[in-house]
Amino acid sequence: MNLLKKCELCPRMCKVNRYQQLCFCHCDNNIRIALAKLFFYEEPPISGTKGSGAIFFSGCNLKCVFCQNMEISNFNKGQKITIKRLSEIMLELQNKGAHNINLVTPTMYIPGIIKAIKKAKKGGLSIPIIYNSSGYENANIIKLLDGLIDVYLPDFKYFDNTYAIKYSKANNYVKNAQSTIEEMVRQTGPCKFNKQGLITKGVIVRHLMLPGLKEDTKKILDYLYHTYHDNIYLSIMNQYTPNKYVEFNELKKPLKESDYEEIILYADKLGIKNAFCQVGGTVSESFIPDFNFEGIKKIKSF
Ligand code: SF4
Ligand code: SF4
Repeated sequence: MNLLKKCELCPRMCKVNRYQQLCFCHCDNNIRIALAKLFFYEEPPISGTKGSGAIFFSGCNLKCVFCQNMEISNFNKGQKITIKRLSEIMLELQNKGAHNINLVTPTMYIPGIIKAIKKAKKGGLSIPIIYNSSGYENANIIKLLDGLIDVYLPDFKYFDNTYAIKYSKANNYVKNAQSTIEEMVRQTGPCKFNKQGLITKGVIVRHLMLPGLKEDTKKILDYLYHTYHDNIYLSIMNQYTPNKYVEFNELKKPLKESDYEEIILYADKLGIKNAFCQVGGTVSESFIPDFNFEGIKKIKSF
């Protein structure tokens, strides 16, 4: 069955035929990516010393107003590639020494990604595959990835749908993020690391703290810890950087340092042991890659 002909890949369930029509994510039936390179700005067990083999897909099904990758997520910057080329890119990143393949914002391209992973594995791909997404997923579609993805890296952005509607135009974010994470944990089981400390299996849930949403952050930590205890890792991020497009006044300023410190203490008191946090001032555009199409074209060898 061609899932792009009546697209329900994400909870927006647009049911459009992506060969004929664009919908919320603005992705058609082709795979588009903006960058494929070794990337060093992920959590230490992902970046390691040699880098994560990140493939940045173009478009996003959430289109958050505060997005730090607006160029690709909201404005869909990217170049069209075939499934075959995507599988080659995975192998090229492995050859460059990547610790893993890191599929960034892959949701809209799941059918093509499944085919590309299978092809790349036949061609010798052996490093872990990471699915790095917004958490706004259709859990039934995530089931299709069972056995293909080693590590899930979903966001859990909001615990109150009011914020999800306001900032991401998503009216059912919370329930879908919960069912998605449940399915991801079911597939991978608890986190496992190799001798070098690199993650090989499991789920790391990311939460980017937003200015003014401290109480919402606490609810997310409560929920995740009481549901999964030490079976998952949390990544609590303070790197929020206001972008030039955001219209909401409360999002035009960086996160208060004291709010982040309060949350780290809160997590500690809750008993959370498996967590990554960010040290010092991380508000910077240096986390934002240059989406210059590096790694997309095949370099011919003579
Ligand atoms: S992936 Fe895009 S077209 Fe498909 S349901 Fe989601 S927003 Fe709609
Ligand atoms: S989910 Fe992530 S990539 Fe997508 S718009 Fe929101 S912040 Fe940007």
